[in-house]
Amino acid sequence: MSELHDLHARIKECSACDLRKGCTQVVPGCGAFDTAGAEIDPSEARILFVGEGPGAEEDKTGRTFVGWSGELLRRSIKAAGIPDDYYFIDNTVRCRPPDNRDPKPDEIEACWPWMVEVLKTLKLLKIIVPMGKPALRTMAFKLGFQKKIGQLPITKLAGKPFYLEDRGLYIFPLFHPAFANRQNDRRAEFIAHLQYLGKAYAGWVRRKR
Ligand code: URA
Repeated sequence: MSELHDLHARIKECSACDLRKGCTQVVPGCGAFDTAGAEIDPSEARILFVGEGPGAEEDKTGRTFVGWSGELLRRSIKAAGIPDDYYFIDNTVRCRPPDNRDPKPDEIEACWPWMVEVLKTLKLLKIIVPMGKPALRTMAFKLGFQKKIGQLPITKLAGKPFYLEDRGLYIFPLFHPAFANRQNDRRAEFIAHLQYLGKAYAGWVRRKR
Protein backbone atom coordinates (compact mmCIF):
# COMPACT_ATOMS: atom_id res chain seq x y z
CA MET A 1 0.00 0.00 0.00
CA SER A 2 1.44 3.44 -0.85
CA GLU A 3 2.03 5.88 1.98
CA LEU A 4 -0.73 8.17 0.69
CA HIS A 5 -3.15 5.28 0.33
CA ASP A 6 -2.42 4.22 3.90
CA LEU A 7 -2.91 7.79 5.13
CA HIS A 8 -6.27 8.00 3.36
CA ALA A 9 -7.43 4.78 4.99
CA ARG A 10 -6.69 6.39 8.38
CA ILE A 11 -8.34 9.70 7.42
CA LYS A 12 -11.51 7.84 6.45
CA GLU A 13 -11.77 6.50 10.02
CA CYS A 14 -11.51 9.98 11.60
CA SER A 15 -14.13 11.21 14.06
CA ALA A 16 -12.09 13.99 15.66
CA CYS A 17 -14.89 16.57 15.48
CA ASP A 18 -18.68 16.68 15.35
CA LEU A 19 -18.81 17.21 11.58
CA ARG A 20 -18.44 13.45 11.15
CA LYS A 21 -21.83 12.89 12.82
CA GLY A 22 -23.68 14.86 10.17
CA CYS A 23 -21.92 13.77 6.97
CA THR A 24 -22.03 10.63 4.84
CA GLN A 25 -18.29 9.98 4.81
CA VAL A 26 -14.88 11.54 5.38
CA VAL A 27 -13.45 12.86 2.11
CA PRO A 28 -9.66 12.66 1.85
CA GLY A 29 -7.91 14.66 -0.88
CA CYS A 30 -7.53 13.20 -4.35
CA GLY A 31 -5.81 13.83 -7.65
CA ALA A 32 -6.96 13.85 -11.27
CA PHE A 33 -9.12 11.15 -12.85
CA ASP A 34 -8.45 9.18 -16.02
CA THR A 35 -11.02 8.91 -18.80
CA ALA A 36 -12.57 5.87 -17.09
CA GLY A 37 -13.01 7.91 -13.91
CA ALA A 38 -10.26 6.17 -11.92
CA GLU A 39 -8.02 8.31 -9.76
CA ILE A 40 -4.52 8.90 -11.12
CA ASP A 41 -1.89 8.26 -8.43
CA PRO A 42 -1.09 11.65 -6.89
CA SER A 43 1.80 10.43 -4.66
CA GLU A 44 4.30 12.46 -6.68
CA ALA A 45 2.19 15.62 -6.80
CA ARG A 46 4.12 18.90 -6.90
CA ILE A 47 1.05 21.08 -6.45
CA LEU A 48 -1.46 20.97 -3.59
CA PHE A 49 -4.80 22.77 -4.08
CA VAL A 50 -6.65 23.46 -0.83
CA GLY A 51 -10.37 24.24 -0.66
CA GLU A 52 -12.70 24.73 2.26
CA GLY A 53 -14.66 21.54 2.84
CA PRO A 54 -16.64 18.90 0.93
CA GLY A 55 -19.99 19.89 -0.58
CA ALA A 56 -22.97 17.64 -1.37
CA GLU A 57 -21.40 15.90 -4.37
CA GLU A 58 -18.10 15.31 -2.55
CA ASP A 59 -19.97 13.95 0.48
CA LYS A 60 -21.79 11.51 -1.81
CA THR A 61 -18.80 10.36 -3.91
CA GLY A 62 -15.93 10.61 -1.39
CA ARG A 63 -13.88 12.67 -3.85
CA THR A 64 -12.82 16.30 -3.57
CA PHE A 65 -14.06 18.96 -5.99
CA VAL A 66 -16.33 16.87 -8.19
CA GLY A 67 -19.41 19.11 -8.12
CA TRP A 68 -20.25 22.37 -9.83
CA SER A 69 -17.18 24.29 -8.62
CA GLY A 70 -14.93 21.25 -9.01
CA GLU A 71 -15.85 21.07 -12.67
CA LEU A 72 -14.51 24.61 -13.20
CA LEU A 73 -11.38 23.87 -11.16
CA ARG A 74 -10.52 20.58 -12.83
CA ARG A 75 -11.30 21.83 -16.34
CA SER A 76 -9.14 24.96 -15.80
CA ILE A 77 -6.21 22.94 -14.40
CA LYS A 78 -6.31 20.72 -17.48
CA ALA A 79 -6.60 23.69 -19.86
CA ALA A 80 -3.56 25.24 -18.15
CA GLY A 81 -1.49 22.21 -19.17
CA ILE A 82 -0.73 21.00 -15.65
CA PRO A 83 -0.02 17.25 -15.85
CA ASP A 84 -2.59 14.93 -14.27
CA ASP A 85 -0.11 13.37 -11.85
CA TYR A 86 1.27 16.73 -10.73
CA TYR A 87 -1.53 17.77 -8.43
CA PHE A 88 -3.56 16.79 -5.41
CA ILE A 89 -6.77 18.51 -4.22
CA ASP A 90 -7.58 18.63 -0.52
CA ASN A 91 -9.65 20.72 1.93
CA THR A 92 -9.21 22.42 5.30
CA VAL A 93 -11.92 20.09 6.68
CA ARG A 94 -12.68 16.65 5.27
CA CYS A 95 -16.28 16.21 6.44
CA ARG A 96 -19.12 18.18 4.90
CA PRO A 97 -20.30 21.03 7.14
CA PRO A 98 -24.12 21.08 7.49
CA ASP A 99 -25.86 23.20 4.83
CA ASN A 100 -22.43 24.03 3.38
CA ARG A 101 -21.73 26.51 6.16
CA ASP A 102 -18.14 27.69 6.68
CA PRO A 103 -16.05 25.32 8.77
CA LYS A 104 -15.61 26.54 12.37
CA PRO A 105 -12.15 27.20 13.81
CA ASP A 106 -12.32 24.16 16.12
CA GLU A 107 -13.27 21.93 13.17
CA ILE A 108 -10.35 23.25 11.11
CA GLU A 109 -8.10 22.71 14.12
CA ALA A 110 -9.31 19.12 14.54
CA CYS A 111 -8.62 18.36 10.85
CA TRP A 112 -5.23 20.11 10.69
CA PRO A 113 -3.12 17.08 11.82
CA TRP A 114 -4.22 15.35 8.61
CA MET A 115 -2.91 18.26 6.56
CA VAL A 116 0.41 17.99 8.39
CA GLU A 117 0.55 14.32 7.36
CA VAL A 118 -0.41 15.15 3.78
CA LEU A 119 2.39 17.72 3.62
CA LYS A 120 4.88 15.13 4.89
CA THR A 121 3.63 12.43 2.55
CA LEU A 122 3.78 14.50 -0.65
CA LYS A 123 7.57 14.44 -0.80
CA LEU A 124 7.89 16.32 -4.10
CA LEU A 125 5.47 19.09 -3.10
CA LYS A 126 6.64 22.55 -4.16
CA ILE A 127 3.51 24.67 -4.62
CA ILE A 128 0.49 25.20 -2.35
CA VAL A 129 -2.61 26.80 -3.86
CA PRO A 130 -5.03 27.91 -1.14
CA MET A 131 -8.40 28.66 -2.73
CA GLY A 132 -10.54 31.32 -1.06
CA LYS A 133 -10.11 33.21 2.16
CA PRO A 134 -10.71 30.41 4.73
CA ALA A 135 -8.14 28.12 3.08
CA LEU A 136 -5.64 30.95 2.65
CA ARG A 137 -5.98 32.15 6.27
CA THR A 138 -5.72 28.59 7.59
CA MET A 139 -2.56 27.83 5.61
CA ALA A 140 -1.09 31.25 6.49
CA PHE A 141 -1.56 30.85 10.24
CA LYS A 142 -0.53 27.22 10.31
CA LEU A 143 2.52 27.60 8.06
CA GLY A 144 3.49 30.97 9.53
CA PHE A 145 3.18 33.28 6.52
CA GLN A 146 0.36 35.47 7.85
CA LYS A 147 2.60 38.58 7.70
CA LYS A 148 2.93 38.09 3.94
CA ILE A 149 -0.81 38.45 3.43
CA GLY A 150 -1.70 40.84 6.26
CA GLN A 151 -5.30 41.98 6.07
CA LEU A 152 -5.42 42.02 2.27
CA PRO A 153 -8.59 40.55 0.73
CA ILE A 154 -8.40 37.52 -1.53
CA THR A 155 -9.27 39.75 -4.49
CA LYS A 156 -5.88 41.47 -4.02
CA LEU A 157 -3.93 38.29 -3.29
CA ALA A 158 -5.26 35.86 -5.91
CA GLY A 159 -2.88 35.10 -8.75
CA LYS A 160 0.16 36.60 -6.97
CA PRO A 161 2.74 33.99 -5.99
CA PHE A 162 5.31 34.26 -3.23
CA TYR A 163 8.08 31.98 -2.02
CA LEU A 164 8.52 30.74 1.55
CA GLU A 165 12.30 30.49 1.91
CA ASP A 166 12.11 28.57 5.18
CA ARG A 167 9.88 25.85 3.73
CA GLY A 168 11.07 25.85 0.12
CA LEU A 169 7.45 26.24 -1.01
CA TYR A 170 5.61 28.58 -3.35
CA ILE A 171 2.23 29.87 -2.24
CA PHE A 172 -0.15 30.77 -5.05
CA PRO A 173 -3.50 32.06 -3.69
CA LEU A 174 -6.56 31.64 -5.90
CA PHE A 175 -10.23 32.55 -5.65
CA HIS A 176 -12.39 29.73 -4.41
CA PRO A 177 -13.87 28.15 -7.59
CA ALA A 178 -17.43 28.51 -6.22
CA PHE A 179 -16.87 32.27 -5.83
CA ALA A 180 -15.33 32.44 -9.32
CA ASN A 181 -18.18 30.45 -10.80
CA ARG A 182 -20.79 32.96 -9.67
CA GLN A 183 -19.44 35.96 -11.64
CA ASN A 184 -18.22 36.03 -15.23
CA ASP A 185 -15.35 38.46 -14.62
CA ARG A 186 -14.10 36.52 -11.57
CA ARG A 187 -14.37 33.25 -13.49
CA ALA A 188 -12.21 34.72 -16.28
CA GLU A 189 -9.65 35.90 -13.72
CA PHE A 190 -9.63 32.48 -12.03
CA ILE A 191 -8.95 30.78 -15.39
CA ALA A 192 -6.23 33.35 -16.21
CA HIS A 193 -4.55 32.74 -12.83
CA LEU A 194 -4.45 29.02 -13.54
CA GLN A 195 -3.05 29.70 -17.01
CA TYR A 196 -0.29 31.68 -15.32
CA LEU A 197 0.37 28.76 -12.96
CA GLY A 198 0.48 26.47 -15.99
CA LYS A 199 3.30 28.57 -17.46
CA ALA A 200 5.20 29.08 -14.18
CA TYR A 201 5.00 25.74 -12.34
CA ALA A 202 7.85 23.98 -14.16
CA GLY A 203 10.36 26.68 -13.17
CA TRP A 204 9.07 26.76 -9.58
CA VAL A 205 9.31 23.00 -9.26
CA ARG A 206 12.96 23.05 -10.38
CA ARG A 207 13.96 25.74 -7.88
CA LYS A 208 16.54 24.54 -5.36
CA ARG A 209 16.27 26.00 -1.87
N1 URA B 1 -15.82 23.20 -2.20
C1 URA B 1 -14.74 22.97 -1.43
O1 URA B 1 -14.22 23.86 -0.75
N2 URA B 1 -14.24 21.73 -1.43
C2 URA B 1 -14.73 20.73 -2.15
O2 URA B 1 -14.19 19.62 -2.10
C3 URA B 1 -15.85 21.02 -2.96
C4 URA B 1 -16.38 22.25 -2.96
